Amino acid sequence: MTERPFLVITALRSEQFALAGALSGVPVERCGMGPAKVRQWLPRLAEINPAVVAVVGVAGGLDPSLRAGDVVVATEVRDDKGRRVLRSAAPLVAELRRQGLTVRTGPIVSTDHIVGGVDERQRLAATGAIAVDMESAEIVRALSDTADPSLPIAVVRVVVDTAYTPIARLRTLPAGAKALMVLRRTGPALQKWAALAGPRRVLLAGPRSFCAGVERAIDIVELALQRYSRPLYVRRQIVHNAHVVRDLEKQGAVFVDELDEVPDGTTVVFSAHGVSPAVRVEAERRRLNVIDATCPLVAKVHSEAKRFIARGDTVLLVGHDGHDEVEGTLGEAPGQIRLVQDRAEAEAISVDDPDKVAFVLQTTLAVDDAAQTVDALRRRFPLIESSPTDDICYATTNRQKAVSAIAQDADVVLVVGSPNSSNSLRLVEVAERLGTRAHLVDDASGVLPEWLADAKTIGITAGASAPPHLVDEVIGMLSALGPVEVDERVVAEEDLKFTLPKGVAG
Ligand code: SF4
Repeated sequence: MTERPFLVITALRSEQFALAGALSGVPVERCGMGPAKVRQWLPRLAEINPAVVAVVGVAGGLDPSLRAGDVVVATEVRDDKGRRVLRSAAPLVAELRRQGLTVRTGPIVSTDHIVGGVDERQRLAATGAIAVDMESAEIVRALSDTADPSLPIAVVRVVVDTAYTPIARLRTLPAGAKALMVLRRTGPALQKWAALAGPRRVLLAGPRSFCAGVERAIDIVELALQRYSRPLYVRRQIVHNAHVVRDLEKQGAVFVDELDEVPDGTTVVFSAHGVSPAVRVEAERRRLNVIDATCPLVAKVHSEAKRFIARGDTVLLVGHDGHDEVEGTLGEAPGQIRLVQDRAEAEAISVDDPDKVAFVLQTTLAVDDAAQTVDALRRRFPLIESSPTDDICYATTNRQKAVSAIAQDADVVLVVGSPNSSNSLRLVEVAERLGTRAHLVDDASGVLPEWLADAKTIGITAGASAPPHLVDEVIGMLSALGPVEVDERVVAEEDLKFTLPKGVAG
């Protein structure tokens, strides 16, 4: 029995020619232009019976930000008969971006005619589609209706004519040549993506994703947006996640680094990571309406630090320099609270009175690393005091236990989270310390093909600031590459909820 091939489908001879030279051993079939031609060609598709399909060619840009030569990878294809969602192409997107191509993802609409006029483009763009072609929807529908349901399908289009330069203008000639060159460059990435097709097992860490402090902080901004006049300012990222910030920006929040960017008398939300007293004083002087989204567990560390300072101790804060939370805690008593980043610094630090020392911890440290630093501090300062309860919060601890529970049995661990998320970075470190490859990704489109290439068991978790739907998208992507068996390993149940602060409560 011959193996089912990876098939690339194009509409035009020029596209077929461009791709055939860039793909080795991959059949490139031409279906003809438009849905009627596609329907005539479909028996050939059935005859080939491919295992993976990429529909590749040129397209018209609908989104005004698209330029000639930009690559559009479809998240769905639609036409007047319906829509089909496409989830498998995230690693292809990551690879194309790594190769330096400008890639956008979004819906592609297929029509039965060339869309030339600006008015029709605007009408199609208003439906949410970012590019237009004439074949994708018909091909994808035929594949989804007749072929095996886990068949990986990608639709990749390179923009020729744009929202501002419709087709049949002189400028579309060089744009067409440029698009064909870009199309050729997609070949190696398409082959890497196609090689990922196949069954996998997913080990899902539990708990993962949002903690009580992050949920509360997001709720606070959303409630404040409903209650107070716009613009609503938020000092620093409300939580360290690019998707959360973008979503709140779309709803009307304005993120600033410092209070001097906030006009007097307006409303400002302080982030979940907390602020120093100097920031509170400045906000009061400026008569800002402050809504404080500081996580109660961060506020607890501030209280502990203040308690130790009040009795004359030198406070050692174990944490990472530059993190918003550390900046806020150090600000409780500048000069009297000293930062200790790791065991080496704990071994080296000197204090005025070794009998009057206390330590507090950043809430999102790696539990094992922090224990080593604390051991060194306890050995050097036997009378050192600390909080009666753990400063590393329950959410950080649980997520680290959960990633440990999956890492040893996984070929690779994907941690969903943003690069500035401390607790997400710690999850990568915990998995790596157990000898498993681990990668931080903001979302599915950050997953590079080689991470999955030889991986049959994929561990998945997410930092406390990463929205749960991003994890679903990673699992959806894997499921669209082949059959997936999901095994969730839950190490702790979480039901903590924090009350809302003054200004948005009630
Ligand atoms: S990770 Fe911990 S300290 Fe940070 S917001 Fe969540 S619960 Fe609060």
